[in-house]
Amino acid sequence: MAENPISPTVPFDRDGTHHGFLRLPYSRDDSAWGSVMIPITVIRNGDGPTALLTGGNHGDEYEGPVALQNLALTLTPEDIRGRVIIVPAFNYPAFEAGTRTSPIDKGNLNRSFPGRPDGTVTQKIAHYFDSVLIPMADIVLDFHSGGKTLDFVPFASAHVLENKAQQAACVAAVEAFNAPYTAIMLEIDNAGMYDTAVETKGKVFVTTELGGGGTATARSIAIAKKGVHNVLCHAGILQGELERHPTVMLDMPDERCFVFCETGGMIEPVVDLGEDIIEGDLLAKVWPMGSTGRKPSEYRAKRPGILMARHLPGLIKPGDCLAVVATVV
Ligand SMILES: [Zn+2]
Repeated sequence: MAENPISPTVPFDRDGTHHGFLRLPYSRDDSAWGSVMIPITVIRNGDGPTALLTGGNHGDEYEGPVALQNLALTLTPEDIRGRVIIVPAFNYPAFEAGTRTSPIDKGNLNRSFPGRPDGTVTQKIAHYFDSVLIPMADIVLDFHSGGKTLDFVPFASAHVLENKAQQAACVAAVEAFNAPYTAIMLEIDNAGMYDTAVETKGKVFVTTELGGGGTATARSIAIAKKGVHNVLCHAGILQGELERHPTVMLDMPDERCFVFCETGGMIEPVVDLGEDIIEGDLLAKVWPMGSTGRKPSEYRAKRPGILMARHLPGLIKPGDCLAVVATVV
């Protein structure tokens, strides 16, 4: 197989703080020998564990990029033992455009793993992480939120894994992140995910959904900053106490958690994020557009719990995820 064309401008094995780029050659109309420049910071102080911290896997989610820009500016080698690799905007072309997927190739980075060294720009980014950066890491934290079309109660999560010792290590790291909600997640579509690439390499993995709407709030950013600090302490890279607050444990045991829209139209929410739900509760109505005097479609909860996520824009299409109901453990 071809070699990955990305070259880092920073060293990974030298002590100190190194700000630079992952440079990915990208020949195009406005720059024949141009490159995609993905910002990266490597901070190292001797031997010890390595944390790989990423935001902007989807380009319209902002808690990770904001928390990681802060961390790259303020964390010093003296603060740590081991190594911290910070990539605030993982799918940089998508981040630059403010879109979920890359404007170059429409690549959804979180569906592009393990990637290809000779593929599209997005596939090359995935392949570089899969073959170079993930293998360096002991613990990986990937920030997400809902982007422009979803909104979530703020949670950190681990996945159900076949290797129960690895799952327990992931859950411990997620509990250290200490978001207001902590979820054990069932993925509805895990092929090609960064999560799966990290987990199949036996690493400890923490992911989040901290809000949504294509923006961030003061509250969601505070959760992200505290979470990354706690995860670095948990990993033994930072010294210091974890800051812990009560968290609500959530479970997503099966596909009945997800409510998909079968009609298009205008959403009338009936419950808001975080509200308690019993099975059969009306979650939302979807009004047909274009005429009056017609009844809305009704969408009901298929299990009890809380409203964990919802479709955010006021209009919805058939097939869109309307709501997610998670069980409170
Ligand atoms: Zn995302």
